[in-house]
This record gives sequence, structure tokens and C-alpha cells, in this order.
Amino acid sequence: MSLYPAHPAGLPARRAALKLLDAILRRGEPLELALHGATQGLADRADKAFTHAIVAEVLRHMPDLDALIDGATRRVLPPDAKARAVLRLALVQVLVLKTPPHAAISTALPLVDGGPRKLVHGVFGTLMRAGASLPEIPSLLPEVAVRWQEQWGADMVQAAQEALAASPAIDLTLKDSLETDLWCERLGGTSLLPGHVRLAQSGDIASLPGFADGAWWVQDLAASLPARLFGQGDGRHVLDLCAAPGGKTMQLAAHGWRVTSVDQSQKRLVRLDENLARTGLSATTVQADLRQWQPEAPVDAILLDAPCTATGIFRRHPDVLHRIGERQIAELAELQQSLLDRVADWLKPGGVLVFATCSLEQAEGERQIERLLTASDAFALDPVEAEILPAGIVSAAEGWVRTLPSMLAEQGRLDGFFIARLKKTE
Ligand code: SAM
Repeated sequence: MSLYPAHPAGLPARRAALKLLDAILRRGEPLELALHGATQGLADRADKAFTHAIVAEVLRHMPDLDALIDGATRRVLPPDAKARAVLRLALVQVLVLKTPPHAAISTALPLVDGGPRKLVHGVFGTLMRAGASLPEIPSLLPEVAVRWQEQWGADMVQAAQEALAASPAIDLTLKDSLETDLWCERLGGTSLLPGHVRLAQSGDIASLPGFADGAWWVQDLAASLPARLFGQGDGRHVLDLCAAPGGKTMQLAAHGWRVTSVDQSQKRLVRLDENLARTGLSATTVQADLRQWQPEAPVDAILLDAPCTATGIFRRHPDVLHRIGERQIAELAELQQSLLDRVADWLKPGGVLVFATCSLEQAEGERQIERLLTASDAFALDPVEAEILPAGIVSAAEGWVRTLPSMLAEQGRLDGFFIARLKKTE
């Protein structure tokens, strides 16, 4: 008779986790998008959350989990072997999520039914008996570490690994920046800029005071910087391009801009509309692909929050560490270049263009702006003033802003972003 029940409690969540991990690692699907399909059979919200947590932690610790697995078996398991995937899931439950070992292994073995059960059981047992643990600071995948070291140096790689070890702070942007002290006090948070509150702990955000009334919205400090570069709108017209779910639209509307928000995703625009309704802010929304759409007349300002690899948000979305490589970076850089060239024609003379990406790849930031400035005399870089930035972040010598995981380490860090402000000269 088997040592374990045929269908131990919690097996569906583990089965979903295996499916989800496979969708990300083999098919390159984003974690948040693949989650829905993988957890469709799970009725319980707690099960879905557990599935998400298991997979997110595997993605954060995968190189170290693999090192443990490889050290406990003489048989070399291929990177995509099911036994390796099942072991990653079981080990991370015990070593990170504090699942009791018997619950982790009894829900792992049915996942390799008719396959290498003995091997999985053996490796897991060996590691448990040896008191295996993961390093306090997770290791980045070697290819990511090399790519970031080449661009930013060894200190950035070390900081990125440290950032992976901590749960990121929750940042809020206030509708009214004059109320910064008030909301810091009410929510028990701290502020790094007017209109910004960093919460001391996470939890059910929607139940916090001010959420239902639309006094604030969740937005990483780095993501709040691009819209800050526009100042007060005084009724001038700004195009918020790639706008959904609307964090930057709300900032611009709250600062007196007449906003037209364009995004190709209807589903994400519904969230933008919900956000506007909750905060009582207004914008005109347009569902369109920017490669086809164009405004009826030139505008005063444009924010292009361009589609990108999103490697700058690896703390909350660790799947980018595994899905993104040189090919994806090159493809998105090409799209950004074509969007930048297209929207550059939509500004009035003297108008302002802010280009932003939540990427840690220079091809999606610095190189884009260098190329635009070389290719066109119609733009000049407008250096970002120190007062707009949080203490501890300075603009680069060129005048643009680059945030890195090594910055604001004492205060809880921020996402990786590139932001440049340009003025149309002709
Ligand atoms: N600016 C948003 C905010 O602050 O909440 C975040 C935008 S997100 C980084 C990128 C957005 O670009 C996605 O909502 C996506 O649907 C949109 N997008 C991607 N390609 C597009 C295209 N060709 N035309 C219009 N929107 C596009």
C-alpha cells in the first residue's frame, strides 16, 4: 500500500502550479496571464493564491533550488524534466513557504505518477535529512547576471539579488499631494516625495482608508516619476499613450491636464475606467493600436509609456527573469523605436515628450533616446530637475533618469525605470 493517500488535500493547487510553471518556462507566458488558465479548475481563492505563491517563489529561487537538486542526485536531470519541476515546487514549499515536508512530498508524488516517483522521493528525502536550506540572498540566473553586469556593473547585480530576497514595499500616489502628511499619518506610511506614501506593510489594500473614496492608487515610486515631469497642465492637452490601467493618466488628470488615454487593450481600458470612476478624475479613453491611430490635431504634450520587457519590475514579476532574453529585448526595442518615431510627429512646436519604460535594458531606454536625438534635429533633451526626484536619486549626466535596484536600498528600493523628457524645438 502507498504511504500517501491517493488524492491528498491541496493536490489541485500543486497540479495547477506545475501547469503554470510549465507555461512560463516552456511557452514564455507571463505569470499573471498564465495564472488564469492554469487555475481555472480551482474554486477556492486561497488555492489560487497558493498556486501563485509557489510558482513566484520558484521563479525567485530557481538557480538555488536547481543547485540543491543537482547536488542530491547523480543522475543529471534535463532543465525541462518533469521531475526537476516537481522537485522545485516541493522544495520551495518547505524552504520558503514553510509547508510541512510531508504535505509537500505527498502532493508532489502524484504529479509524477507513472514516472520517476522514486527519484523525486529520494532527492526530496535526501535534502530534508541533510537539513537543506536556500541562501538568504537568491542567485540570479547566470545569463541575467551577465547581461546586467555588462550594462550596470557588479554592484547592481548584487543589489538585484538582495531586492529579490525582500518583499517590495507598496507605494501609493495621492490624488492631492497637499495631503501627503495626512495620509502618511492615517495609513502609518512614510513619504519620499510629495504625493507619495510608502506603506509599512502589505495586506488587503482595498480595505484601507481612502481606497474606496479614490484618495490614492497603488503605483510604484519609480512608475510615478514620468508623469511628475510634466508639472501642472492648466487645461493643456496631453496624450497618455499605452495608458492602461491608468496610473499615469490619473496623475496627469489630477494635475490639471486634459488627458486623452490610448491603449490597445480593451480589458485593461476597463480597469482604467474603473480607476477614473473611483478617483473621480476624468480622461477621454481611446481603444486603438498606436501603429494605426493618430490624433486629430497636434498636442501640447505626450507621455509614451512604451511596451517593454518589464525587466525593471522583476521583484513583483519574477517571471521576467526567465522569459526575457536578447531576442525579446531586440523585438521590443524595435517596436519602441517605431512608436517613438511615429508619435514624435504629433507634438506642437515647444511641446513636451516623455518616454518611459520599466526595463533594465539600455536598448529599451538610453539607446532609444540617443538614436532619436541623432536621427532628428526636432528634439532636445530637457534635463530633469533634482527637485522632482526623491532624495538619493539623481538624473544621469545626459539629463534623463535611470532607476536601478541598488537605489534607495535603505528605504525599500524602487522598480527599474528609464525616463527621458524631450522638447520639440521646431
Ligand atoms: N501607462 C500605464 C500605467 O501607468 O498604468 C501602464 C502601461 S503598460 C506598461 C503598457 C501598455 O501598452 C499596456 O496596457 C498595453 O496594452 C499597451 N500597448 C502595447 N502595445 C500597444 C500598441 N501598439 N498600441 C496601443 N497600446 C499598446
